[in-house]
Amino acid sequence: MYDYLETLNTPQRNAVENIEGPTLVIAGAGSGKTRVLTYRIAHLINKGVSEKQILALTFTNKAAREMKERISNAVGEECAKNLWMGTFHSLFSKILRIEAEIIGYPSTFTIYDTQDSKSVIKSIIKNKKLDDKIYRPTVVQSRISTAKNNLVTPQSYLNNKDIREADKIKQMPQLGAIYLEYTRRCKKAGAMDFDDLLLETNILFRDHPEVLEKYQRRFHYILVDEYQDTNFSQYLIIKKLAALKKNLCVVGDDAQSIYSFRGAKIENILNFKNDYPEFKTFKLEQNYRSTRTIVEAANSVIKKNSEQIPKKTYSENELGERIELFNTLTDNEEGIEVAKRILQIKNATGCNYENFSILYRTNAQSRIFEECLRKRNIPYKIFGGLSFYQRKEIKDVLAYFKLIVNPQDDESLKRIINFPTRGIGATTVTKLENAAAFNDLSIFDIASDAHNCQLAGLNAGAFRKVQAFVEMINDLSSKVNMLNAFEMVELVCERTNILEEYDFNKNPENKGKTENIQELMNGIKDFTDNSMEEGKSFLILDYISEVALLTDQDKQGGEDTDRVTLMTVHSSKGLEFKNVFIVGLEEKLFPSIKETSLNKQELEEERRLFYVAVTRAEKKLCLSFVKQRSKWGKIEFCTPSRFLSEIDSQYLKMPLESESNIFIKRKENQRKRLEQHQYGHLETQDSIINSIKGVRLDGKIKRMEELAQIDKNVIIGANPEQLKPQTLIK
Ligand code: ATP
Ligand code: MG
Repeated sequence: MYDYLETLNTPQRNAVENIEGPTLVIAGAGSGKTRVLTYRIAHLINKGVSEKQILALTFTNKAAREMKERISNAVGEECAKNLWMGTFHSLFSKILRIEAEIIGYPSTFTIYDTQDSKSVIKSIIKNKKLDDKIYRPTVVQSRISTAKNNLVTPQSYLNNKDIREADKIKQMPQLGAIYLEYTRRCKKAGAMDFDDLLLETNILFRDHPEVLEKYQRRFHYILVDEYQDTNFSQYLIIKKLAALKKNLCVVGDDAQSIYSFRGAKIENILNFKNDYPEFKTFKLEQNYRSTRTIVEAANSVIKKNSEQIPKKTYSENELGERIELFNTLTDNEEGIEVAKRILQIKNATGCNYENFSILYRTNAQSRIFEECLRKRNIPYKIFGGLSFYQRKEIKDVLAYFKLIVNPQDDESLKRIINFPTRGIGATTVTKLENAAAFNDLSIFDIASDAHNCQLAGLNAGAFRKVQAFVEMINDLSSKVNMLNAFEMVELVCERTNILEEYDFNKNPENKGKTENIQELMNGIKDFTDNSMEEGKSFLILDYISEVALLTDQDKQGGEDTDRVTLMTVHSSKGLEFKNVFIVGLEEKLFPSIKETSLNKQELEEERRLFYVAVTRAEKKLCLSFVKQRSKWGKIEFCTPSRFLSEIDSQYLKMPLESESNIFIKRKENQRKRLEQHQYGHLETQDSIINSIKGVRLDGKIKRMEELAQIDKNVIIGANPEQLKPQTLIK
């Protein structure tokens, strides 16, 4: 144990020691917000607060693990282990499992990932005989998600005039009906999607005040990291839980709000002041992460945004190198240059591969970097993209787990009823599915009943095969509470012969698939060995609950050693690396907006994203762009990103007199003239309280509460503002 207070500066220390009452910390990148939150928890425990009374919300599971480790160093492992700390989704799914029955779900409910819920949506669109060129499943899915995150139920969606009009505009009059059917199917399957985890928590707290009170009384202290990226649904959960004790501490940075496309609301910060007029605020201004050059360069970019809370961020670290800017002809060459520089920097400074990261705007950019690194034997790890858990063979095994835990889960059943092949054809499955829809039962219910199978039109042969499948699932289900997760996965593989299906002799490509399943089993073994609570074994339900909620930033496989990190800028939030490459800095890619639809809010969000990227770097930052990039098999010519010209040029090191240099200089001058005129007044250093008043949101400040009063009737139609077509269609 060590004295963590010694490691804090005065304002950080004040923020850690003032543990009572609502507290808001809005401060720039790298100023120690997460550090404050972490040690505030340690401090609470040191002051005698039971760790069971603390609820701490982080943006990723990985962040939670790291924070727990630090807390454990400060106050001991036992206390840290029992903390309720994790993402909104993981913690509230835990509460929902405990309380499931009162809201009509089994406690074993399945969590649908994006693919699962898209597959349900596709099937509804097909059943309703709608045109999937008009009702594009991704668009429908994102509109349903937006509605849920604003607590708009299907009924209110259907009753809302704004929505009906929006539907007409977009020629999707059936959207409300799809939403309704989607909700019905999920409920029938005992499944929740990610947004449901928050929506259902809100409904639980709205309709069952006694349950709410139980958790209000349990959690005396609530802490939230990355508060700028909470959505309305999350905001409301926190507000309700904190209503009794009002010991809520939120930390965040409005300049790093990068998830508005997923419904994150900067208004949540503004509401804080209104919700808790007695709140305290602590200003953290010193950046400890980056060189002065990087901090100043980041400041010079973000000040171009008009929608922000003015605040100071400075660094007392070394001045550091200038930011390196380079360009190449093609995207392949960009990959080669980055790999070359990694080796150069590594040789010159002696740092490890894990001190490097390559950040890009879109997942698709990763392929070239992977190839270039591989060719030079540079080890790397990649986050996001098609994650390990989204691979077919892994999803197949997981589908077995989900089905044996919750036989009502039709999506999982359809996935594996004939995999490995057991002679149950598509026609049989369709017959079962139709009968299930007709009788409002699950497919498994129909399959389990001889009479229903007969009515569904199954012949004797098909029936026998279906019966054998049902018996196997029932037998496996009967063991879910007897065997631990690892024993269970062994049994599932043995009974289903899934590994034989991926036999190398059948197809050499199967080698990778068997290895992946092997890796999955290793992972389950780890979980089973390490997550054991006293006297309670780690069951398969515990495992699938965890797996469903892994985020892009969570470890993929067991490779956490010395590797270069490849990730999107979105996933890099909260992290830091000695050396950072931000690649693909071209118009239309980063900022990822079309020249023709230049919308100020979108542009400002892209700029915040760029600010997040720049502020990940501790020592060295390299920026690159290409002149031509292949897209969909065609060559496209690219223009350098406007963000390059927004960085004050004194912080940049450019190849002398290169074409890019001249171009950027010219653009910078033009822009400077324009911006002095537009934003010249923004550089005030008011206190945060005053500046919050001054924030302009498209001319208006709207409190969420004005739009939604969450009492008996509401949740319904909570935030119609959000449902206008332009915010829904993204
Ligand atoms: P972000 O906005 O990116 O989430 P943050 O405000 O949460 O950043 P932290 O990640 O907590 O900042 O801190 C940034 C870095 O500075 C970390 O490496 C942290 O350990 C270090 N740091 C913070 N405060 C201090 C301090 N008082 N003394 C030394 N190092 C510090
Ligand atoms: Mg942080």
